[in-house]
Amino acid sequence: MTSAHVVIVGAGFAGINAAKKLGNKSGIRVTIIDKKNYHLFQPLLYQVAMAGLSPAEISSPVRSILVKYKNIDTVFGKVTNINLSNQIVQTEFKQYEYDYLILACGASHSYFGKNEWENFAPGMKTIEQATEIRRRVLTAFELAERENDPQKINSYLTFIVVGGGPTGVEITGSLCEIAYFTLNNEFKNIDPKKTKIYLIEAGKKVLANFSDSLTAKALADLNKIGATVLLNSRVENITQEGVWLNGKLIPAATVIWAAGVQPSETGKLLGTELDQLGRVLVDNYLNLKNYKNVFVLGDQAHAKGKNNLPLPGLAPVAIQQGIHTAKNIIQIVNGKSPSPFEYFDKGQMATIGRGRAITEFSGIKLSGKIAWLCWLVVHILYLIGFRNKFFVFCQWTWSYITFGRGARLITNQNWKNNDS
Ligand SMILES: Cc1cc2nc3c(=O)[nH]c(=O)nc-3n(C[C@H](O)[C@H](O)[C@H](O)COP(=O)(O)OP(=O)(O)OC[C@H]3O[C@@H](n4cnc5c(N)ncnc54)[C@H](O)[C@@H]3O)c2cc1C
Repeated sequence: MTSAHVVIVGAGFAGINAAKKLGNKSGIRVTIIDKKNYHLFQPLLYQVAMAGLSPAEISSPVRSILVKYKNIDTVFGKVTNINLSNQIVQTEFKQYEYDYLILACGASHSYFGKNEWENFAPGMKTIEQATEIRRRVLTAFELAERENDPQKINSYLTFIVVGGGPTGVEITGSLCEIAYFTLNNEFKNIDPKKTKIYLIEAGKKVLANFSDSLTAKALADLNKIGATVLLNSRVENITQEGVWLNGKLIPAATVIWAAGVQPSETGKLLGTELDQLGRVLVDNYLNLKNYKNVFVLGDQAHAKGKNNLPLPGLAPVAIQQGIHTAKNIIQIVNGKSPSPFEYFDKGQMATIGRGRAITEFSGIKLSGKIAWLCWLVVHILYLIGFRNKFFVFCQWTWSYITFGRGARLITNQNWKNNDS
């Protein structure tokens, strides 16, 4: 009997969980392709940007995660084309025939058509972007320290985060901690306590997916730790000088974009129906219309939840879809019927800063230290690999006790040898 060949594109939350479930299953051969050689734990990316963790602590090589599965081949490469009729996935260097295809390429930033803003306000989806944000944040303090012009110092010591979702709130909280605790006492000419940290949100509340009582707590927490939250405020322009709001400029050397995402461009390679955001429309089995052997998962899929609304772009959605699809493929290969996907909502959580978070699950609402501890435990549990869990736990304990940050490196953008 020849094995069914499953090709998985994307080793993110959906892809890696599908692969693990298909691992060592007889009658199935798996090829997983990713343009990166590592799986990235995106929920903790902001900690890399905020110098709390190092990139390697939140990522693991795909090859080593899957090494124990003899039926899985790991390929480092970018998928450039997909031929649905001939069942072929094309990378830059080779093509792969499949019996079943799982497409799970995630999402990137959306600047709502204002792509020119990216230069002045990087978003945070990759390690490269997170380390660039870290570079800009730490550099701003150093430049302020050696500057004499008060206006320039003011600009260096003003940080603006655009977007009041979980990522924007987490970054804002961390910036407050860096400015008001970590760097306090480290400079001779500037007072980091004078740093201004703005969080700009177009909607009427931060963390809009949470219930009103919890978002009110989050807002109060942000104000308490020193952030200035501007609600109902739509950014008009972002330039090298700062952010334009209501016809006025807020001068700021550092702006961070946490406002919007768009699905991976690979969805367009399918040539099938996409929703307004560019997500691939899939049915209850996560199948592409008319293609029972093609599954699209995670952030790049538009799958409907119980209330007929699209499922949110969250790690638990991607994880559950990956596992479910793998089980369905095993069923089909064994001559059984697949089952429709149903998302089990385990609730949501967001951290605001040291000892402050909100969580909401099954009607239970928590805030403050208890919610924060829940957030810590869940994130450690979901990290891949014992080494990462252990190091992140140690880093967090050390940071909690000392207010320190272990990864305060300003790394140069210019990688060529310029030491001479
Ligand atoms: C900063 C940040 C914070 C977040 N915080 C949370 C949180 O607190 N809680 C939560 O639940 N969710 C959070 N999310 C969302 C969560 O990370 C995503 O929902 C989840 O990663 C989606 O999983 P995925 O498998 O669909 O895609 P991803 O995990 O993004 O993986 C996609 C993979 O596809 C690969 N890929 C893309 N294009 C190609 C190509 N052409 N060829 C080969 N490979 C390709 C990529 O390299 C990547 O490895 C956060 C996201 C970000 C960016």
